[in-house]
Amino acid sequence: MNSRIGRHFLHIPGPSPVPERVMRAMDMPVIDHRGPDFKKLGEDVLEGCKAVFQTEGPVVIYPSSGTGAWEATIVNTLNPGDKVLMFETGQFATLWRQMAARWGIEVEFVSTDWRRGADPAIVEAKLSEDRSKTIKAVMVVHNETSTGVTSRIAEIRKAIDKAGHPALLLVDSISGLGSADLRHDEWGIDVTVSCSQKGLMLPPGLGFTAISEKALAASRSNTLPRSYWDWAEMLKPNASGFFPYTPATTLLYGLREAIAMLREEGLPDVFARHQRLAAATRAAVQGWGLEVLCQEPTEYSPVLTAVVMPEGSGADAFRKIVLDRFDMSLGAGLGKLADKIFRIGHLGETNDLTLMGALSGVEMGLHAAQIPHQRGGVLAAMTKLRSGLDD
Ligand code: PLP
Repeated sequence: MNSRIGRHFLHIPGPSPVPERVMRAMDMPVIDHRGPDFKKLGEDVLEGCKAVFQTEGPVVIYPSSGTGAWEATIVNTLNPGDKVLMFETGQFATLWRQMAARWGIEVEFVSTDWRRGADPAIVEAKLSEDRSKTIKAVMVVHNETSTGVTSRIAEIRKAIDKAGHPALLLVDSISGLGSADLRHDEWGIDVTVSCSQKGLMLPPGLGFTAISEKALAASRSNTLPRSYWDWAEMLKPNASGFFPYTPATTLLYGLREAIAMLREEGLPDVFARHQRLAAATRAAVQGWGLEVLCQEPTEYSPVLTAVVMPEGSGADAFRKIVLDRFDMSLGAGLGKLADKIFRIGHLGETNDLTLMGALSGVEMGLHAAQIPHQRGGVLAAMTKLRSGLDD
């Protein structure tokens, strides 16, 4: 039986479903990006983004994927030969490290078992050891989308301060922003990297960097040649709402609407909703007798839950059955987790009933694929949603 009627259940951890309201906002004729109507749109989104990043400073918006914004962060703040400290929290940290290495950056890569986040105590120890202050930056993935683990950025900031170290704090919140609390200014982040297709509920195509004063100063003295990604080139026209090259106008209409939606719900409520849905998802996993990949309860991701397959069962065959039978996409295991886990996205426009639909699809899929499990995960999730967050 192949069910293609009704809507597709997109439950990968990004791209996330685009709300109808955002779709309608993007249904606009393309306008002159040097004209007065664009100026208003440009000013609205450049200003509006600041509230989402919780910053007073500039947020640069690129027509790019998140990977582009990663590169923008590196080329504006670092030079070949610079040392940085990174944590192998999963596949995305591994890819960002690979990119840094390609730019000639010397990366000290602290390994983990991909089941926990970056350890603030290790940050403090490594920076305290670095008496000559040669480490230029600590680069951390906030929400590791490949594992469902959220690193404690505020604690990492405190660790850097305790070590009395001047390293920049560069944070990938590509899948965290708009779903998990992220306070660019309050947490002393120097660059927050993000993109459009996760918590911002937009199609792919926009990359962001929120920039601190210190990061901006670092970019002014940074000698690495750069052009497309150059913050200085962006910030000049941004001051009057414009862009140095053709912006992704249609996506910016959507961004304006998505920001309005986040503001209407209120960021604290947006974050609480994600925490609630994540707790219900974990209750379901426990109810099925399966294991959540993340092993640190303080680091459970509000964005996605990675589920470990029982020994001898392949995650990809299971995901295929779920897609074929129920028209639902679940996230694949990436890198060394390929075929070993599947990921349930509960970010963006997800609410209680969409989550219950998704979890029902997982439970029916486990049954259809004859994966050893217990029944009752869906019931456990429903009970959790009814009782709120009292675990
Ligand atoms: N970093 C994280 C944490 C991600 O989840 C992703 C994509 O899922 C990326 C980086 C790369 O972003 P993109 O695929 O938009 O280039």
